[in-house]
Amino acid sequence: NKCRTCLKQNTLTIATVVGVIMGAILGIILKSTKDKWSEREIMYIGYLGEVFLRMLKALILPLIISSLVSAIASLDLSLSRKIAFRAIAYYLTTTFAAVVLGIIMVVAIRPGVGHTEMATKQSEDTRNVTTVDTLLDLVRNMFPPNVMEACIFQTRTDLTSPSPNVTDVYKYNISFETVQNTNILGLVVVAAALGIAIAQLGEEARTMANFFHNLMSVSMKITSWVIFLSPVGIFFLVAAQVLQMDDIGSVMSRLGFYFGTVCLGLAVQGFIVLPLLYVALTRKNPFTFISNMGEAIATAFGTASSSATLPLTIRCLEDKNGVDRRVARFALPIGSTINMDGTALYEAVAAIFIAQVNNVPLDIGTLIAISITATAASIGAAGIPQAGVVTMVMVLETVGLPAKEVGLILAVDWLLDRFRTAINVMGDAFGAGIVYHRSLKELGLLEQSSEEEKFQV
Ligand code: ASP
Repeated sequence: NKCRTCLKQNTLTIATVVGVIMGAILGIILKSTKDKWSEREIMYIGYLGEVFLRMLKALILPLIISSLVSAIASLDLSLSRKIAFRAIAYYLTTTFAAVVLGIIMVVAIRPGVGHTEMATKQSEDTRNVTTVDTLLDLVRNMFPPNVMEACIFQTRTDLTSPSPNVTDVYKYNISFETVQNTNILGLVVVAAALGIAIAQLGEEARTMANFFHNLMSVSMKITSWVIFLSPVGIFFLVAAQVLQMDDIGSVMSRLGFYFGTVCLGLAVQGFIVLPLLYVALTRKNPFTFISNMGEAIATAFGTASSSATLPLTIRCLEDKNGVDRRVARFALPIGSTINMDGTALYEAVAAIFIAQVNNVPLDIGTLIAISITATAASIGAAGIPQAGVVTMVMVLETVGLPAKEVGLILAVDWLLDRFRTAINVMGDAFGAGIVYHRSLKELGLLEQSSEEEKFQV
């Protein structure tokens, strides 16, 4: 009976995971029936997935604005400040920990050493975007000059818009039409300002507060409909992606070690580092927490986008992990935009791997510089497919390599992207869970939670 209730509660999670697996199987079967699938055929196969993704993306904008504004407006300002401080402290420490972990792994495993044959022939460097430009863009994007415009498209200088030196990235096997082109970072800042102003005005801005609160409820209602489609949507998305890939055997023989190093690092971060931190700070079972997030994690894998997964992350965190909505809706929109443990780890590993292939010696000073730029590059990456590879330009520059060197790792990037996005989403969820737990007293929830607080494995 217990088993049946458990199955019933997790039907959608199981269906989503099955969707990922079946999609991959369908893709592999179809791929083996024909030498080359045309773009049009792949588009037909992925079509329902594309429609599903569009629905998820349509929810991002109303969800981010309404959740942040209503969360901040419903909290006491000093409490908002405390929660924000805790969330940002968590984001920075775990991101940095992920980078250090990545550096240790890639330096120990040395996947690129002795593979100089893979190095791209050096030609004159055509790069014209520098780290400073990337950092300036990051801050520039925080302040959209026109809020409506920020909702519709990004400014020319936006991090995810193709700049001349990364055109290869965009040409290569990446369906960038699926890039969701909203300046989300800008919207997060605007929503936070709006929430703070509404909270300060109090009674005077009550109508506005209610409006955003209602918008949130309505968006969550629509989310619950869209979520039902996720197993089918993800099934087609994954199948189409598998059809697009290069011959995996030859790719893996070249890049298998690198791929394995990133995956091992991601696994350690997701299943050891973050869970340990969670147990230490909350005394709760981290694996129950992870399995409750299953649907969001499978969607992250299927869509390769933390932003598109946001509706599901909010849902799983509130409904299954019981995190108070004031914290979940505050921490998650920000987390999905700036907190990317998986991406940070990957940025460091990839840059050092490329340096190893090119025989570039790395001293401790360079490694420290990489750890800082990789952290910044992950913060700067948008929560959209393969954004990490674009912001990696700044990490490569630290090692003294031109941007076009990313060409080396692109063949496996679409797949790695899915793994790192899953860890990104897990990191956001753990963060919100920890901040919630540490803020129980201030939220006035301590009594009722002391019962559940007992650590049960
Ligand atoms: N796709 C990742 C995400 O959405 C970002 C990246 O690493 O490319 O979280």
